[in-house]
Amino acid sequence: MDGFEELYQSIILDHNKRPRNFRMIQSCTACADGLNPLCGDEITVSVSIQDGVIVDIGFTGQGCAISKASASLMTVRVKGKKVVDALEDIRLLCNMLTDEATPSDSVLENLGDIAALSGVRQFHARIKCATLGWHTLESALLGRSERTSTESA
Ligand code: ZN
Repeated sequence: MDGFEELYQSIILDHNKRPRNFRMIQSCTACADGLNPLCGDEITVSVSIQDGVIVDIGFTGQGCAISKASASLMTVRVKGKKVVDALEDIRLLCNMLTDEATPSDSVLENLGDIAALSGVRQFHARIKCATLGWHTLESALLGRSERTSTESA
């Protein structure tokens, strides 16, 4: 294991153990439920948006370590960001996880802490655990009302 892998793993473990923003936003302006039936991960993402900016975000639910750590990293990443920029982050992260090509250093640098999820690429069955929270956030931001499932897209 090289230094980066160790760093990445410690970020995932930390976010799984102490998930950030693990709560419902009481005054949320949008929320969405997501499900990954392959693993049994369930997540609810709630956001408070003011003037096109995500002023608060929380998530609740239950699932494996990867799904929880990924959602936690996501909340830290997008809180305080414009909705358009958060949508771009969702695209970046999902592309990084699903592209055949190994992500370049500049892509990983751009992703910051969420680059820690790149290790999941090696475990194909877990990629949907890692993308669940992000797809669910996307649904909330786009105002989709039906539950997001990793198996319906
Ligand atoms: Zn999972």
